[in-house]
Amino acid sequence: MRYCVITYGCQMNKNDSERISTFFDENGLESSLPENAELFIINSCSIRQSAIDRIREKAKKIKSENKKLIITGCLLKEDKKEMQEIADYVLSTKEIFSNPLPFLKKKEENYFQIEPKRNPPTANISIMTGCNNFCSYCVVPYTKGREFSRPKEEIIEEAKKAIEKGCKEIWLLGQNVNSYSGGTSFSNLLYEINKIKGDFWIRFTSSHPKDFSSDLIDTIKSCKKVTNYLNLPVQSGDDEILKKMNRPYTIDQYKKIIYDVKKNIPNITLSTDIIVGFPGEKEKNFHNTVKLINEINFDMIYIGRYSPRPQTEAFKMKNDVSQEEKKRREKIITEILKENNLKKNKTYKGKNVKVLVLKKIKENSFLGKTQCYKTVLIESQDELVGNFVKVKIINYSPWGLKGKISPK
Ligand code: SF4
Repeated sequence: MRYCVITYGCQMNKNDSERISTFFDENGLESSLPENAELFIINSCSIRQSAIDRIREKAKKIKSENKKLIITGCLLKEDKKEMQEIADYVLSTKEIFSNPLPFLKKKEENYFQIEPKRNPPTANISIMTGCNNFCSYCVVPYTKGREFSRPKEEIIEEAKKAIEKGCKEIWLLGQNVNSYSGGTSFSNLLYEINKIKGDFWIRFTSSHPKDFSSDLIDTIKSCKKVTNYLNLPVQSGDDEILKKMNRPYTIDQYKKIIYDVKKNIPNITLSTDIIVGFPGEKEKNFHNTVKLINEINFDMIYIGRYSPRPQTEAFKMKNDVSQEEKKRREKIITEILKENNLKKNKTYKGKNVKVLVLKKIKENSFLGKTQCYKTVLIESQDELVGNFVKVKIINYSPWGLKGKISPK
């Protein structure tokens, strides 16, 4: 039987999908393009209502073409019920591997034992699953359950195998990597992976400000392979809203962490996540977010318009910021980011940077990332994907850099 996995959502879902692919291959099924597939596996994401709406449409389309369909991944009780009416099977991620399905011969109780199907140069490695934080807007503790850290030995082994297979960018993933507890601290885990032989970079996401330790700053500074890029979601620049979000830190505490990070690692690039239009977010609260953005001068901001999700605490609050207003606030942040980034990216012009080439976008045109996670467009007639290359920056825009291969 030919199958096709469709993945929505985060890098952790991508990692689960890579395991699903290995497992289905081992069961004698054949991976295929969507047009030839007889069985589809949708690995879903419930973070936003819009994602669930898209998944529902996709699922209906697949079933209207008379194909078999399994839906798995991040699903709330309410969504599960609805999907059961559309799909042939609705299973949790664990159940995909451990449930006897008619077309699968084998079972696997601990799915982390399955080696993900790697697609170098990037290797996504989930170091933990679930979350204990119950931010008031978030479904993860309900869809993925409580926090569970994988044993460090298992993670180190997985990283070694990925590097042997040619991966050059190791992403360590968790909802809150700072509270990792699989037999060592997160900082020690980074030290261990940094010791593995080979030319590769280590990245990680996501961090929670409440668990961020000065240890981690020292680790980023002293481990050569850990890149100078930090994603530290703030979600709002206003203490009142942070409290309603059940994010237990203040903006002063957040700024102190950033101050320490910048002081110790001056060339670090910083990204954050921000939700606009959280219930009760007035103009004055939003103004504080704008103030913070200007003060910190983030390199990237992942903006989400608040959308109420069942089961969460915020679902009980009045969703009182209109969609139009959310869009306006998103636009204001995007404009600030654009302006600040243009100034920053200008400073790269004429410089040589090391880039890991991630993909080919068209003939003679490639996309890569610097170790600080800046996007670089490279024009070259050589096949570059999967290699580290030295690039001279010849142009820039708010969203990235453009360069050509530096002469040797
Ligand atoms: S830390 Fe908060 S936002 Fe992140 S997964 Fe956990 S509950 Fe969700």
